[in-house]
Amino acid sequence: MPTSNDMQKVLDIQDKNLLFEEDCVSYALFKNHYCKFIYCTLSYMPTACKHCGEPNQNYSIYKNGSQTSSVTFPTTGVTPTYLNVKKQRFKCKNCQRTFTASTPIVQENCFISNFIKAAVLVNASEARSVKNIALETHVSATTVQRL
Ligand SMILES: [Zn+2]
Repeated sequence: MPTSNDMQKVLDIQDKNLLFEEDCVSYALFKNHYCKFIYCTLSYMPTACKHCGEPNQNYSIYKNGSQTSSVTFPTTGVTPTYLNVKKQRFKCKNCQRTFTASTPIVQENCFISNFIKAAVLVNASEARSVKNIALETHVSATTVQRL
């Protein structure tokens, strides 16, 4: 059975806080396409609060539910791929505010992985049409233009 570590290698993910469990890959129809969904969990103990900067001491920051986001990922094999990340949410006892675990794989409040952004930029430097790049990287033409 592949381990979480193997999955990270297959997907070129260096963030060790992203954990993959057994049977984390499934196929489903999405936007009329047969797509691959890869499920993983993002969790760690934050060292400080993202809002007030208070260091995490004596459990001053505690786990507070989770939030799942679906991120467009580069095609693996021949199937459009989405990474479903279940992100840990935290609450700070000092400022009473909540925040979500973050990962370098994707910017906060963005649903397109940084890998896709990099692929769009590489393709764009080869002077290819916006429509072609959009088709190949599975994002909209508007996103290609914006990047
Ligand atoms: Zn705080």
